[in-house]
Amino acid sequence: MSANIDPHSPLIPAQEMVLPTLQGDGKRRWLNPALATGKYWQRRRLLAYALIAFFVTLPHLRLGGKPVVLLDIVSREFTFLGHTFYPTDSGLLLLVLLTVFFSIMFITAVGGRVWCGWGCPQTVYLEFLFRPIDRLFAGTVGKGGKPRKSLDAALQLGRFAVYLVCSMFLAHTFLSYFIGTDRLAQWMRLYPWQHPTAFGIMAGATAGLMYNFMFFREQLCMVACPYGRLQSVMLDRRSLIVTYDIHRGEPRHKGKAIGESKVGDCIDCGHCTSVCPTGIDIRNGLQMECIHCTQCIDACDAVMGRIGKPQGLIRYSSQDALSGKQHSWIRARTLIYPAMALVTSALFLMLLTTKFAFDARILSAPGAPYAVTATRDLQNNFRVRLRNRSNQEETYSIRMLQPTGASVQWSDVAPTLQPNESKLVPIMIHAPLGITAANHGSVQATVEITDQSGHARQIQLRILGPG
Ligand code: SF4
Ligand code: SF4
Repeated sequence: MSANIDPHSPLIPAQEMVLPTLQGDGKRRWLNPALATGKYWQRRRLLAYALIAFFVTLPHLRLGGKPVVLLDIVSREFTFLGHTFYPTDSGLLLLVLLTVFFSIMFITAVGGRVWCGWGCPQTVYLEFLFRPIDRLFAGTVGKGGKPRKSLDAALQLGRFAVYLVCSMFLAHTFLSYFIGTDRLAQWMRLYPWQHPTAFGIMAGATAGLMYNFMFFREQLCMVACPYGRLQSVMLDRRSLIVTYDIHRGEPRHKGKAIGESKVGDCIDCGHCTSVCPTGIDIRNGLQMECIHCTQCIDACDAVMGRIGKPQGLIRYSSQDALSGKQHSWIRARTLIYPAMALVTSALFLMLLTTKFAFDARILSAPGAPYAVTATRDLQNNFRVRLRNRSNQEETYSIRMLQPTGASVQWSDVAPTLQPNESKLVPIMIHAPLGITAANHGSVQATVEITDQSGHARQIQLRILGPG
């Protein structure tokens, strides 16, 4: 690291490499990776195009009249697969998060950073949209080589313009997950001065994406993404990783072997490092910066083909397999994680199917806690927060299940709610005056609310009266 520092500089050189994209004097080492067009790249490219189509199409898809995915943060409503979740559904949302969490733990324990290298939108867009744009302007498309380091001003301007258009398109796609495609279409039809806030949000998102793909790039994976930071706890010695076979490759040598001395298959050509989008040398072992993009596999396989050696000096393997140990996918974490994901997803589905038609929550009404009517009855007033979660208009009925002798009715007409509508509806409870006398002034009651489709919710409350 000290090689880059001016000997007269007051800077103290770092003792070891802090980041592969950091020079000894703390300046950014800009990466300009070459392209290896081997079999893994071909497969990743196919998947990437399919994923880009999926990411762009998903916010436009609808199920039962609702978006398949809509994360409406402003209204605090999350729609997923045609079901809308509200802040009161924190239990259901927690189960979804736990299912995602256990699934990620499982996938990582088995397949390492397969998500980072093959499915993450950052990798997909950077490697299969923005870097190809760089190659287009550098004139190296189809050659698989290194892009030119510097472009003249006109080419730079052209590249900037294409980046801007792509970033605008991605910003619109990204925001459609949060505002919905209908509102997005409205925004797009208006002039900026007619909706300055919305325009500002879109301009900010475009600028953020532009900055990310033009300048921040691999730094997002290396210093900002929490998933990358958690690798060390999620991987173990049997997880699948992209790795260099040190037993076969070492001692590496440049050119021909001298005399009878044993040499490894690595000819120290540096191709594996020149294609690495995070600037590391896979031959130094498993590193946190490796996103398992497989570019070094493709680069090394091509070199092995040229020198007549078998492919796979760099390959998918595990630390145990490389050190000659028996390899098995089955171990405690690969059994426990999917089991936990199954339990949480089953619980989620059960709650979703049994409790989803409508929400009903009892709230106290303003005023005195109870009243005694002219007919010497006890009267309690409450309010019910009703939310119709179905996709059709519903009218609700209410009845008292217990205690015997008590009754309940809507204070006004039976409420009718449109899909997704929420309403605060007053109710009146009547009970015999002495019902609370033996219970210190209150008695437990159960009320049942039913919609026209036959879904019922039972709610507990306490009838108050003289004790
Ligand atoms: S590409 Fe293969 S042969 Fe070349 S330096 Fe890397 S590991 Fe060695
Ligand atoms: S070391 Fe290989 S797999 Fe890891 S990021 Fe670099 S090129 Fe990709």
